[in-house]
Amino acid sequence: LATLAYEIPFEPPGHGLNLVITAYKSEVRWIPMLLMGSLGVLAAAIVWSLWQLRRHMQRRQAAEQALSSEHAFRKAMEDSLNTGMRARDLKGRITYVNPAFCRMVGWSAEELVGLLPPMPYWAPEALERTLAVHEMVLGGHAPPQGIEIRLMRKSGERFDALLIEAPLIDSEGRHIGWMGSMVDVTEQKNAQELARQQQERLQATARLVTMGEMASTLAHELNQPLMALSNFAAAAQALAQGGPPELLVQSLQDVRAQAQRASEIVRRIRGMVRQGSGLAERFSACELVDTVLGWLKPEVTARRVRIARALPAGLPLVLADRVLAEQLLLNLVLNALQALEGQASERRRIELGARVEGGRLVFTVADHGPGVAAEHAEQLFAPFFTTKAEGLGLGLKICRSIAEAHGGALSWHPREGGGAVFEFSLPLAP
Ligand code: ADP
Repeated sequence: LATLAYEIPFEPPGHGLNLVITAYKSEVRWIPMLLMGSLGVLAAAIVWSLWQLRRHMQRRQAAEQALSSEHAFRKAMEDSLNTGMRARDLKGRITYVNPAFCRMVGWSAEELVGLLPPMPYWAPEALERTLAVHEMVLGGHAPPQGIEIRLMRKSGERFDALLIEAPLIDSEGRHIGWMGSMVDVTEQKNAQELARQQQERLQATARLVTMGEMASTLAHELNQPLMALSNFAAAAQALAQGGPPELLVQSLQDVRAQAQRASEIVRRIRGMVRQGSGLAERFSACELVDTVLGWLKPEVTARRVRIARALPAGLPLVLADRVLAEQLLLNLVLNALQALEGQASERRRIELGARVEGGRLVFTVADHGPGVAAEHAEQLFAPFFTTKAEGLGLGLKICRSIAEAHGGALSWHPREGGGAVFEFSLPLAP
């Protein structure tokens, strides 16, 4: 180890002091080494945690960014909505409104948030109803299809809104209030109203046209009672020249009854032209058939036609204008009788039936005549369409109007084995 020794002499040389420096291997010093080591470990831990922190920050930043873009998207969606949105707490205080809501009512979000009812946009004239709706919503009884209410803009202008309310539930599942969406339906309602008015005008025009037809209609409908009147009067005249007085009285009574019937027909048809079906009465299918067949008895006998009635027992009553219903059935049976003209005797048959179907009583008049020719089928119900020399072509048109005035329809189909079946329905009496 001499190589590692070194001697430095101090002055004066030979007598002075010598400094001998000798390097020797010392024993291992653990403590400083451990200190150094732990410093290293600590430094590494710091670097590692810094790196972890950076990663965490990055992740957090990404999450925040996603959240804020999600929020921005939702906000943009809410703002661009045309539907007004309004949130209220359980007491009914407004906690949030979207721009569409503000546009609709004209008040700003700052003015609205925090308000308790009555709200400034409640129309004073509809206050009571609006309050009732408000209470209904807070009570949780808002109808899922929404409620229509009349509201007021800041300008005082009124508008109709469709309000749909739903409970507002927070992320923990607690019910914290109510969320309402509101759509301005004023235009829709106006359009509906306009359509209704147009429809009404159209109907009025149609009725005017019908008025034109009414003259012809009356001529058609009055023909039968007038003919009967004339027959009964002729009989009375004959009886007046020395017949039995009871028969004379009976004939005069018949004359009166037919005259009354004629005036009643005029009245009812006028009523129908004015506002649809007039007087509603309860009566049975049997009564209706009996009355009509009673009038047609001479006609039926003269034409040697057999009429079969298929009216099941226990049929419910109908609710209809009796005189018009009689006219309807009368026209159909008359048509059937006329269709049987010139038919062989075994084909001169008419079947009258009735059945309940779809909550209505359906009457059928079936004849064994030649049926409706294919080329006529289309025009059957057109006014003034007739194939008869003496026909007016109004009977079926009137029948259809009567059936429609009672909420039904008049239709026909060929009868199996030849002939035609006409069907109409009358509403059942409740
Ligand atoms: P009209 O009896 O004055 O001709 P309608 O409107 O009652 O007027 O009838 C129109 C046409 O429908 C008749 O001319 C006839 O051609 C046809 N029609 C009506 N009922 C029957 C029926 N039961 N069988 C065959 N054709 C019929």
